[in-house]
Amino acid sequence: MAIYHPNEQPAPAYDSHTHLNDDQLYFDVPAYLGRAHEFQVLEMNVVGYDEVGNERALAIAHEYEGVHAILGFQPEDTPSMTAAAFDQLQEQVKDPVVVAVGETGLDYHWDTDRTIQEKAFRAQLRLAKDRDLPVVIHNREAFDDVYRILKEEQIEKAVIHSFSGTPAQAKAFADLGYYLSFSGVVTFKKAEEVRAAAKVLPLDRILVETDAPYLAPKPNRGKTNEPGWTKFVLDDLAQTLGMSRDELAAQTVQNAHRIFLNHDQN
Ligand SMILES: [Zn+2]
Repeated sequence: MAIYHPNEQPAPAYDSHTHLNDDQLYFDVPAYLGRAHEFQVLEMNVVGYDEVGNERALAIAHEYEGVHAILGFQPEDTPSMTAAAFDQLQEQVKDPVVVAVGETGLDYHWDTDRTIQEKAFRAQLRLAKDRDLPVVIHNREAFDDVYRILKEEQIEKAVIHSFSGTPAQAKAFADLGYYLSFSGVVTFKKAEEVRAAAKVLPLDRILVETDAPYLAPKPNRGKTNEPGWTKFVLDDLAQTLGMSRDELAAQTVQNAHRIFLNHDQN
């Protein structure tokens, strides 16, 4: 369905973090991509989290234009990152459709063994460094340890996915040169602090994402999220930052190209 008059087409957008590889979306990828295109979300990163998720991310990125892959083991799935699985990951990230390693990090909300999480986190950070790829960081209730480990491993290229922390934490990450990606969380009524955090950041460090099928933004909160709904994240965040949605869309596309695709534009 054509929603926009051609002259009123919004600026193209880039969903920096989505899971078309998740069971909830994977069996309908063409439909979700079609809807994303209606909303002018023309580029996206499909992010892996375990072996099956990584294989699917690769397959989707190979099949569709504008779709890139990010491969890794999320904290919850690190017990499945055996030596053989890590060997395979090391091979898979050599594929040119892969633009980052992740999502990887620490999650203290669930009770996955923290020693296993940290070992897998450090291994993936070293892999990213070896390949000169950025890392996409999953941090839940673990800021101090995530921040310390990123510094210890001397990571220079990182994206903090679905940033949900304080302005001070945002500033600390930005001071290391990292990018912060904002999800539907920024549209939630109680997320005052997250909106305040967005305001302390340099504009050239901000990305937007859906984390679909999770974290659906207002006005669709609680529904199955999809990449096209990057539109709603942009609407809200643009308002917070006092700029137009198209300006923010263009800025975040440029930022995504710089960090993920090595486009040397400022
Ligand atoms: Zn995710």
